[in-house]
Amino acid sequence: FVIPEFEEFCSRIEKIYNKCKGIHLGKVASYIPQLERMSPDYWGVSLCTIDGQRFSVGDTKIPFTMQSCSKPLTYAIALNELGSEVVHRYVGQEPSGRMFNELVLDFNKRPHNPLINSGALVTTSLILSLLEEYPSLADKYQFVNDFLQRLSGNEYIGFNNAVFLSERENADRNNALAYYMRENKCFPEKINLRDCLDFYFQCCSMEADCESMSVMASTLANGGICPITGDQVLKPDAVRDVLSLMHSCGMYDYSGQFAFSVGLPAKSGVCGGMLVVIPNVMGLCLWSPPLDALSNSVRGIEFCRELVNIFNFHRYDNL
Ligand code: GLN
Repeated sequence: FVIPEFEEFCSRIEKIYNKCKGIHLGKVASYIPQLERMSPDYWGVSLCTIDGQRFSVGDTKIPFTMQSCSKPLTYAIALNELGSEVVHRYVGQEPSGRMFNELVLDFNKRPHNPLINSGALVTTSLILSLLEEYPSLADKYQFVNDFLQRLSGNEYIGFNNAVFLSERENADRNNALAYYMRENKCFPEKINLRDCLDFYFQCCSMEADCESMSVMASTLANGGICPITGDQVLKPDAVRDVLSLMHSCGMYDYSGQFAFSVGLPAKSGVCGGMLVVIPNVMGLCLWSPPLDALSNSVRGIEFCRELVNIFNFHRYDNL
């Protein structure tokens, strides 16, 4: 086993969980009512090792919309299907140093990276326009859904239509971004902007729970092979690229500090979810809706700090 004393390990994870449960800071995202109604008390932690050992504590069976946690996944799909060279003609690899929905492009007039809104709009446009074997929008949505299903070892993946409709209704910034990017020729030529935005909102509105998301994280930790099914879902090169950018750009404008102090590839979303990958060891999902000023889950961040305090999981810890 990759974690030999698994029970002892889990009891220490549970202690960290309980410590973070006592934190009552942060604010639940309020830009759409469906997220605002989420209880600030929800708090779940699930983990799945690359050899399939599982542990969950707290609210780990409650579905939540993935929001920005879907960004590394759609990026992974684009890489896997189109290759890094094609994808990175359209999007960079640099942290933006700005908020996730900032109206800004890099000096090449491309989005800085695929893990912020501008970059994710581009990766969804690539999936829409370049995957010719899936001609209709329905086929493409199905393809992405099936892909996530395989990443999660066929565990819970859903769709929240109320969130989707709300996202689309409250989308001034994303619309502005899309038009600004079209002006700057960021998209492939034949793109339909409305379809592209809708597809982006749909990806944000796909649901997972902590358990299914921990399996997706674990598939990333395991070079693209789902530890539950043994299915090679992603090519190893695609996984490497995704983890590299999660490491440098996954935590909004906290990415640099997170890379420094926690030293693990991760991605957060305004849902309060966090995908955390410990390469070659395990994947975790942390979920608690209250967010800090930079839109990261307060309990999630604190959990990670405690985790690397106790275990030497930081990428540059001495083993
Ligand atoms: N749906 C949100 C948006 O596009 C997702 C952003 C996020 O999770 N940071 O603004």
